[in-house]
Amino acid sequence: MSEQIPVLNLKEQYQQFQSQLEEAVLNVLRSGRYILGDNGVRLEGQIAALSGCRHGIGVANGTDALNLALWALDIEAGDEVITTPFTFAATVEAIAFRRAKPVFVDIDPVTYNIDASLIEKAITPRTKAIMPVHLFGLPADMDTILALADKYSLKVIEDNAQAIGATYRNRPTGSLSHLACISFYPTKNLGACGDAGMVVTNDDALAERLRVLRAHGMRKRYYHDELGVNSRLDEVQAVILLSKLPYLAKWNARRREVAELYDKALVGCPNIVPPKVSFSDREHVWHQYTIRVKDGAAQSSNGSASRHAREIVMDKLAKQGVGSMCYYPVPLHTQTAFKEYGYRQGDFPIAEAVASQVLSLPMYPELTEAQVNQVAITLKEVVQDGAGFAPHKLTPSPSLAN
Ligand SMILES: *Cc1c(COP(=O)(O)O)cnc(C)c1O
Repeated sequence: MSEQIPVLNLKEQYQQFQSQLEEAVLNVLRSGRYILGDNGVRLEGQIAALSGCRHGIGVANGTDALNLALWALDIEAGDEVITTPFTFAATVEAIAFRRAKPVFVDIDPVTYNIDASLIEKAITPRTKAIMPVHLFGLPADMDTILALADKYSLKVIEDNAQAIGATYRNRPTGSLSHLACISFYPTKNLGACGDAGMVVTNDDALAERLRVLRAHGMRKRYYHDELGVNSRLDEVQAVILLSKLPYLAKWNARRREVAELYDKALVGCPNIVPPKVSFSDREHVWHQYTIRVKDGAAQSSNGSASRHAREIVMDKLAKQGVGSMCYYPVPLHTQTAFKEYGYRQGDFPIAEAVASQVLSLPMYPELTEAQVNQVAITLKEVVQDGAGFAPHKLTPSPSLAN
């Protein structure tokens, strides 16, 4: 059997840095200063600079970054926040925790980001903010979003959990809105060895408010001006992130190369739709390389058509030693947790069709060209007719042309 290629390989990255990271962490352990120390402050400065912002506010994780961002903007009950149904749940949890209403807008079938041309129709007098997500590392259509925000006096919060280092019209993601939220979850393009997150902004007052909210509402110690929470980025995670940060640009460039290698290797692969790899106005950082497996390939060998082609392909890839993952199988408007908002299956046909077809292939900077080719060859074998699939009948989903 050929080499195993996992969907993700964090150990391999760690081994490149092992002595450097372990020494840095040991220094923190020996320093006696574990929370809100110099490393955290340095990290805030460096991430803010990378994001084209004056301020960075370290928090406990990316979800808290989103929660605190909406809180700092005084989003509250009765407000509406426009976002995408095709993202990780944390984006929408943040809106729901404020008792505001998430208002979903369908996605673009090519970029998988919110379809900015549909946003204006969703704006009402209660709309307070738009929350685009730069999904899989690709910046959303920010010009259209910012023009609408201007026209209707709305706030914009970027969920930049997956696109640190990406650019849109030569400006870094994170600098394109009032507040942007970053996650340093271990699997992200810049990952900690635990949880960590950050909010970045160019707004002095919002930065000050966020610093207060993340620390129990205190400006002065033990004087609580308002309700707050405990959400801090600790020194161990900060020093790990500081040690890795100088490599981020190189890693993102390598992810781009890997995406191009996949693109070449998958030419002629039947039954899949590879992602678009080149954009004239934005730079993708390939948090994920996500293909779609067409519904037509769904006929399983034993004739039961009840499973998605995607699940069959995942199983077969796994048997050949190739990892894959589905981000995200269920769009958020159809999740039980968000049922109170009254959405139904059928409301966002593109998001629903995409969610039923997407499959993310192994993507990390350490992948070699030989490994990419092995993934592509295995995938071709798995999806083509005669390799365990009954001859496929292409039944294009009504909403997705290809
Ligand atoms: C990872 C992620 C988050 C949450 O970040 P955590 O650090 O895991 O809390 C939020 N939004 C998106 C789009 C993400 O990918």
